[in-house]
Amino acid sequence: MEVPCVRVPVSEGETTRQRLADADLVDPDFDIVVEDDTLYVPVTDPDAVDGFDVVTHDAPERRTPTTPADLLGFEPTYERLGDIVIVDEDDPERARDIADAILESDVRAKTVVNRASKVKGETRVRDWDVLAGSETETVHREYGHEFSLDITQVYFSPRLATERHRVVEQVEAGEHAFDMFAGVGPYAIPMADASANVVATDINEAAIDYLRENARRNGVSDRVTAHAGDVRELAADYEGWANRLVMNLPHSAGEFLDTAVRLAADDCTIHYYDIQHESEKYSPGERAIRDAAEPDYDVTVGTRHTVRSYAPHEYNVCLDVHLTRA
Ligand code: SAM
Repeated sequence: MEVPCVRVPVSEGETTRQRLADADLVDPDFDIVVEDDTLYVPVTDPDAVDGFDVVTHDAPERRTPTTPADLLGFEPTYERLGDIVIVDEDDPERARDIADAILESDVRAKTVVNRASKVKGETRVRDWDVLAGSETETVHREYGHEFSLDITQVYFSPRLATERHRVVEQVEAGEHAFDMFAGVGPYAIPMADASANVVATDINEAAIDYLRENARRNGVSDRVTAHAGDVRELAADYEGWANRLVMNLPHSAGEFLDTAVRLAADDCTIHYYDIQHESEKYSPGERAIRDAAEPDYDVTVGTRHTVRSYAPHEYNVCLDVHLTRA
């Protein structure tokens, strides 16, 4: 479309654009055009432009991305996992409308799914309603690492990215880190990338297959040993080995504290995840750890951290606890 533009050499482009923007004259509805060595900056009021050459020039209309909210008239709740979009809707009809809007919008999505159950069973995999597309395998990026996974076969929550990063930042080169409930490796792989020697276990064979693939994908296979199986049965092979233990199995981690103590070296930090009522977020976990580790170890709680709200009045929390052989 032909619109009034300030014409300047490209070399003066940024200062000119800035001066016009300061005077509130840049027209936001059109794109700036570059042709050869000349820049055309669309302006809202050519008569108000002072000290520049104003011409009429062809500039494309600026297209603002269409969001699902533009199409629906309300802001839907959804999150991304690679190129899968996960909506969070109890009403199936509303979920379908949101899926349609996501596909019609400029959100990049190969598949749209809705949660069809809570995470469940030993492997903590949930059921999904696939609302659009069919591919449930994806590659998700988190803090510079890539994780391949299939949401119908393994547990993975993108909401824990910040929490995982908090733990990984504590890792020191050369330490022995044991991820007892490793999933596809979102703790194990960054810990190996931080130069820890990592052992990762998971009872879900599919998760361990993905973990091995993800270790290769992120170039850390030489520092990751992965085992499929019940961590309790692997403990004998790693007795006294771990300087760091990740226990990300909220609800049931307490049942594995004896195993954790077996795995612990003379100095060991445990990242213990729990879900508790707001009235007593940390003390049940702390008591359970002391019961399992004392008197063989001195127990110090380093951090009491709330990861996220889990349900009304319930929180997903993490205790970073140091064990030192007494
Ligand atoms: N840490 C991973 C993450 O952040 O994505 C996975 C956490 S998920 C909440 C818990 C994992 O523990 C599941 O992948 C499940 O298969 C595994 N698991 C459950 N019981 C186990 C056991 N006895 N031994 C080893 N892994 C187990």
